[in-house]
Amino acid sequence: MFGSAIVNLTVEKKMNLIWFRNDLRVNDNPALSSALENKQRQVVAVYCLCANQWAMHDMGNNQQWLVLQALSQLKVALAKLNIPLVILESETFQQVPNRLSELCGKLGVSDLFFNMEYPIYERRRDKAVVEKLADTVKCHRKVGQSLVAPWEILNGDGGGYKVFSAYARKVQVYLDHNPPINPAPPTARPAENRQIPKISGVVSQLPSIKPSAEVTPDISEDFVNKQLQTFCRQQIGEYKANRDFPAIQGTSELSSALAVGTLSVARCYQTALQAGYPASSTWVNELVWRDFYRSVMWNYPRVSQRQAFNSVDKFVPWNNDRQVLEDWQSAKTGIPIIDAAMRQLNTTGWMHNRLRMIVASYLTKNLFVDWRHGEAYFAQQLFDFDFASNNGGWQWSASVGTDAAPYFRVFNPAAQQKKFDPQAEFIKAWLPELKAYSSNAIHKFETAPLEGYPRPQVDLKATRKLAIESFKRANAA
Ligand SMILES: Cc1cc2nc3c(=O)[nH]c(=O)nc-3n(C[C@H](O)[C@H](O)[C@H](O)COP(=O)(O)OP(=O)(O)OC[C@H]3O[C@@H](n4cnc5c(N)ncnc54)[C@H](O)[C@@H]3O)c2cc1C
Repeated sequence: MFGSAIVNLTVEKKMNLIWFRNDLRVNDNPALSSALENKQRQVVAVYCLCANQWAMHDMGNNQQWLVLQALSQLKVALAKLNIPLVILESETFQQVPNRLSELCGKLGVSDLFFNMEYPIYERRRDKAVVEKLADTVKCHRKVGQSLVAPWEILNGDGGGYKVFSAYARKVQVYLDHNPPINPAPPTARPAENRQIPKISGVVSQLPSIKPSAEVTPDISEDFVNKQLQTFCRQQIGEYKANRDFPAIQGTSELSSALAVGTLSVARCYQTALQAGYPASSTWVNELVWRDFYRSVMWNYPRVSQRQAFNSVDKFVPWNNDRQVLEDWQSAKTGIPIIDAAMRQLNTTGWMHNRLRMIVASYLTKNLFVDWRHGEAYFAQQLFDFDFASNNGGWQWSASVGTDAAPYFRVFNPAAQQKKFDPQAEFIKAWLPELKAYSSNAIHKFETAPLEGYPRPQVDLKATRKLAIESFKRANAA
């Protein structure tokens, strides 16, 4: 009986396919909601596992592990809705159009739904898919990973914004008039919906990957939605005061869930607004930063291709000495706040935002290492690796991006640690070898050596001066 129902559906080409990518959730998912709208249609879900593409994007074991976790949770959540999840394997994005086309042919798919992705290789892949399927399948593209679609917010010349503050003002006006709409909650299909023809070459068992971090985040939909509620009820009002101090748990730590899409940014925005103004405004501004870097990636595709936004980058004499890079990576710089931050990253796969800015500025301005090495290392380590935010953060820190910190603004790690970790609590938590020292002694690391701890890798003042001179010359070139 099930068989005949399927035959009818496939013959009439009445199947909807929902293609999951970096939106691994069943709630607040515009593409899934649209695919479920017509109750008469059979609905099947697909995910394309592209291991080589992950490697090309420098995505490390931590995030790979996280995606696989999210996928297995998604499979369970979809099964409760009687929607089967097909996992296709394709080495790279190039093979995706053929793999999807075969699947659509086999299942008799008439409509494909997906939420847009913004980096250039993802866009090329999607374009190729749409072209390949053009004669048989209608493609429905939705916006599910930003508050505002990047093509909605353009400057007076019709181009993408280059300065955050002007972009953010326009987004605010846009959102006041076009608040995000909640997609309809998913409803279960009848049990027959589960029945699909046998498909060869699908992944029946997800690969097992070991995270490199010692602790792993819980990014299940239920958990992160509760985490969001708690943050917005209890902590958002103090966010502005607390967010720069790494010893305080003052930020939401929702970035990993946002990165793989078990949480929607629209839901974050709506929940934050419930906390009222001005309590929510600083946090909402960070969500807008996230959108900003997506807008940059959409409007200036070169930034997805290992190029800096600003051509000054070509004239900076980057020092690509492997040893200094490795010392930075393995927390052996002799600068307490940098080493503590890198240990936090290497151990937990996450780093506090203030510290990301400090270590990125140090690598690019004091060590003069090409920002692309820092970007790649973060991608390899972070659970929350997000192509647009990571790339934007690195280019900003290296003063080669949009709206970049002016080149003469070089973070002084010694001053930063004194200001943002005055009692050296964070430093001591990650560098137990410094536990016996007073915070005063730790802050004087430049002039008074700390026994049992390395001397600073470089002279901070001299390298700062050198960086400013080099950037000045590069800007004039
Ligand atoms: C060099 C560098 C690299 C970075 N790499 C990444 C990355 O790979 N993935 C990533 O999600 N963020 C990245 N960021 C931005 C930021 O550091 C993290 O989003 C933040 O630390 C995550 O912690 P949270 O969830 O507690 O953030 P919260 O302070 O609670 O902010 C809420 C959300 O807003 C977004 N957000 C916050 N700050 C920024 C920002 N400056 N830019 C863009 N979005 C922001 C994130 O999605 C975050 O989860 C990077 C920043 C720098 C300077």
